[in-house]
Amino acid sequence: MPKKIPMRQCVACREKKEKYELARIVRTPDGKVLYDARGKVSGRGAYICKDIKCLEKAVKSKALSRALECDVPDEAFEELRRQFEEQKEGQDAEQ
Ligand SMILES: [Zn+2]
Repeated sequence: MPKKIPMRQCVACREKKEKYELARIVRTPDGKVLYDARGKVSGRGAYICKDIKCLEKAVKSKALSRALECDVPDEAFEELRRQFEEQKEGQDAEQ
């Protein structure tokens, strides 16, 4: 039996990718929206490509709000965008 790879769907572009290729966004039980880089935060999660375009699309189209069943505050969006940018810089540096 081949090992089953968990697949998740980006809420912005609807593309299915391996779980670890996507960024997990979580609404925590106390109502915060944050980027779960390690996949350990409990709460309701949504997956987005590690791409700022998908993040922006997910927030602006309200797809992320629907997936998390809550509003995404501007501050949370700014924080997510900053983390996505940092992550991208990190990836570029590794190559
Ligand atoms: Zn996407």
